[in-house]
Amino acid sequence: MPICHVDLSDHSSMQDIYATKGSQENLPKYRLPKNNTEPRAAYAFVRDELLLDGNARQNLATFCTTWMEDEVRQLMADGADKNMIDKDLYPQTAEIENRCVHIIADLWHAKESKDTIGCSTTGSSEAAMLGGLALKWKWRQRREAEGKDTGKPNIVTGPVQICWHKFARYFDVEIREVPLEGDALGLKPEDLRKYCDENTIGVVATLGVTFTGIYEPVEALAHELDAMQRDLGLDIPIHVDAASGGFIAPFIQRDIVWDFQIERVKSINASGHKYGLAPLGVGWAIWASKEDLPEDLIFYVNYLGGNMPTFALNFSRPGSQIIAQYYNFLRLGWDGYTAIQQANSDTAQWLGEKVAALGCFEMVYDGQGGLPAIAYKLKDGDHGFTLYDLSERMQMRGWQIASYPLPSNRQETVIQRILIRRGISRDLAQLLLDDLGRAFEHLKENPVLNSTAKPGFHHG
Ligand SMILES: *Cc1c(COP(=O)(O)O)cnc(C)c1O
Repeated sequence: MPICHVDLSDHSSMQDIYATKGSQENLPKYRLPKNNTEPRAAYAFVRDELLLDGNARQNLATFCTTWMEDEVRQLMADGADKNMIDKDLYPQTAEIENRCVHIIADLWHAKESKDTIGCSTTGSSEAAMLGGLALKWKWRQRREAEGKDTGKPNIVTGPVQICWHKFARYFDVEIREVPLEGDALGLKPEDLRKYCDENTIGVVATLGVTFTGIYEPVEALAHELDAMQRDLGLDIPIHVDAASGGFIAPFIQRDIVWDFQIERVKSINASGHKYGLAPLGVGWAIWASKEDLPEDLIFYVNYLGGNMPTFALNFSRPGSQIIAQYYNFLRLGWDGYTAIQQANSDTAQWLGEKVAALGCFEMVYDGQGGLPAIAYKLKDGDHGFTLYDLSERMQMRGWQIASYPLPSNRQETVIQRILIRRGISRDLAQLLLDDLGRAFEHLKENPVLNSTAKPGFHHG
């Protein structure tokens, strides 16, 4: 017998994982395996499968956090076994959630005197559902108080993220998504009279439109709604979907008025896990005043002998993300957030200039005045390839860059969008730019016969 015989059935922890029996077999995929696997080996095999996923840091299609400090990873692990809904058992996590709500409300100029109320959510989608539900309930109360019948409610929006379509369908509200006319990229004040009526529960204004990164003009929209109240007697509230912009504008665009400084803005949502810099799994919904959140929607849970109001679609979820959000507030402070968002914005604008200088693209959004992002399209004419081909080519170097059509009525225009987030240094942006230039040159020399069209990109 050879001296260094390896026994493949030996599962002892001494053995190299890639010499065990398990390493020589396909993993069970759609049925629970009968036997157990040694943890070290199971970990290695699962981790290996995940090698096939894209590299999150090179995903320039996502708004979500892909870079975090080691301390955040540690806190995520520390909080993983705490159920944030158990306010009684984990009162300090509940307290930290409450602090975050107030820190964010303060960032958005909520007036202390108005009894601001809010909660954490799993993301902006859940927060949008809650915001929409509050609008629907308030509208119904208003109609009933006026002795008027409550017909089918509607909500008026610009080009919104899919969560508002979900809200409309799940909660039986008609969505009136104003089509983009001419070169418009978002909702305009002059659209409102045509689309609002007595059954409009609210107008959604987006601070950081998903498709392009621009901000809708919340203040101008509010002024128009003020005028409509004077002229038509319609008092229509605004909910601001600030999924991304809610953690950008307060730091680097402080002259833009979009938040609770505007009386008509009753509620705002943002994703902690986007520019809030928290890891995936947290969003925030805030109401200017308790009056804007109908009592019917609130459930009370016992909390340290007190009564903690909760409003959520979910029940159990980990406390980790909330804790990590608070860590970031503490760790970075006002100056830290400002420096990071400014750096992101500067890099986006720099990249915008460089991409424009490549000569083949026309900028749709150049990174100024909105999110740290750029959006562009191919110049008119036949290039022998599409942006979808370019996306595919960029994937060869690991870059994920989304290509998709604008919403109606501009669906003929296909654009590409690049998001700059924490973790994308100028050097990394330069590498990206070099690859973009090379990919473009390659495609120009090698036209694509059957161009790929991949509609249906889901904005994450
Ligand atoms: C990302 C996004 C959402 C959805 O947010 P999640 O946190 O992913 O649920 C909603 N609205 C806008 C404008 C967004 O950009």
